[in-house]
Amino acid sequence: MSATFRIIIVGGGIAGLAAAVALRDKQREITVFEQASQLNEIGAGISLQPNASKIVEDWWGLKDALQQRKSAVDQGARVVYHRQDLQDVLREAATGTDRPGCPVMIRTSSRVISCDVDAGAVTLDDGSTATADLVIAADGIKSKMRRFVLGRDQNAIPTGISAYRFMIPMEELEAIAEFTQFINPRDEYTTMVLCHDHRLVMGPVRKGEAYSVVALVPDETLHEDSSSTSWTSHGEKSKMLGSFSDLPEWLLKPFRNVSSLGLWQLRDLEPLETWINGRCILIGDAAHAMLPTQGQGASQAIEDAEALSAFFQDIQCRPSPHDVHCRLQDAFASRHDRATLIQQYSRQQAKPATEKDSVKIKMDPEEFTSFNYTYNGAKDWLSKVQSKVQRSNNA
Ligand SMILES: Cc1cc2nc3c(=O)[nH]c(=O)nc-3n(C[C@H](O)[C@H](O)[C@H](O)COP(=O)(O)OP(=O)(O)OC[C@H]3O[C@@H](n4cnc5c(N)ncnc54)[C@H](O)[C@@H]3O)c2cc1C
Repeated sequence: MSATFRIIIVGGGIAGLAAAVALRDKQREITVFEQASQLNEIGAGISLQPNASKIVEDWWGLKDALQQRKSAVDQGARVVYHRQDLQDVLREAATGTDRPGCPVMIRTSSRVISCDVDAGAVTLDDGSTATADLVIAADGIKSKMRRFVLGRDQNAIPTGISAYRFMIPMEELEAIAEFTQFINPRDEYTTMVLCHDHRLVMGPVRKGEAYSVVALVPDETLHEDSSSTSWTSHGEKSKMLGSFSDLPEWLLKPFRNVSSLGLWQLRDLEPLETWINGRCILIGDAAHAMLPTQGQGASQAIEDAEALSAFFQDIQCRPSPHDVHCRLQDAFASRHDRATLIQQYSRQQAKPATEKDSVKIKMDPEEFTSFNYTYNGAKDWLSKVQSKVQRSNNA
């Protein structure tokens, strides 16, 4: 029997690639199955907060690769990347030959349609199967793998808000004097514009090469169908301009030349009772899709990946099913309460659209920022949680 520890990752988004980077090691054969024909992220900015940027930049050693591309914003230690840049850096770190451990194999055009969680076997849509000691389900908010872990379907819930996202080349924007007299697009901060119940969140990315805009609209004033939950669904410019027609012309003018427009209906998941079953674990949006109000979705996916690497660190050759399951239980115990709280807080911040059913988290934004940022990895977090439980049991 081979001594190699075999790992399958379903999904090559930020969660899947982060897990590939984190788990890469000698004696490990890691395969990522990605349904798309190539790994492409959409044209938009994504911010990583210190809890995650520390892991990616310092612990995984990707700071230089990221710094060549990033545009830091002046909001504490938050860093904004172009999504494609973050994905490229993670992919190169997973598959490159210049890092320790066996390079990860990424198989594109490979859609997984089912999983036997006890056997660690996945079936692809071409009928082929693959088996591994550990299966990581990182297949996003519309996860197909979730039903095999939970034994039932659970889908994400629409929140009543949709988001357009697009990029404007910086040179083009700087030529619009009406805009630049109010906003210097090269200033490294995030600008938010509120207009009734519409919201624009904008800022520079790629060292000021482009300006990223996310435009949030309540569904009832959206002029188009937003039922798709894919990042890659397209919006229509005339309809987007119609939704934002109350904005002043100096703000709308740069939007009139936009060539490619994405549209995303914001959804989140109810917290799941478990993320693990047999040899399989859900991570990222598949486990805890959350609203972007705290900008923590990808950061939480990165924390998941770090947790897996921490709890599987001592496994240097093929583990037994029992070993795998015990480590998955530890990873889950370290992650579930924290990710769930951030998920619920993100929902609470989206009031009033989701106010009705939300769980109230009694933290002010400052406490919450500190909770988010002062994170030192899954093992440290779990030991703090366990000590707290011990103290309260002793009291
Ligand atoms: C408007 C908006 C703004 C946001 N801004 C931020 C931010 O600033 N900071 C932040 O941290 N987070 C942000 N987020 C959240 C963040 O984008 C997500 O949490 C993150 O991208 C989730 O990554 P993922 O890998 O789990 O899922 P995804 O990125 O959805 O990746 C899943 C991958 O799995 C593949 N896949 C799906 N099904 C299968 C299958 N059956 N077989 C094989 N492959 C499959 C998909 O093709 C995809 O490549 C934002 C979200 C929104 C909506």
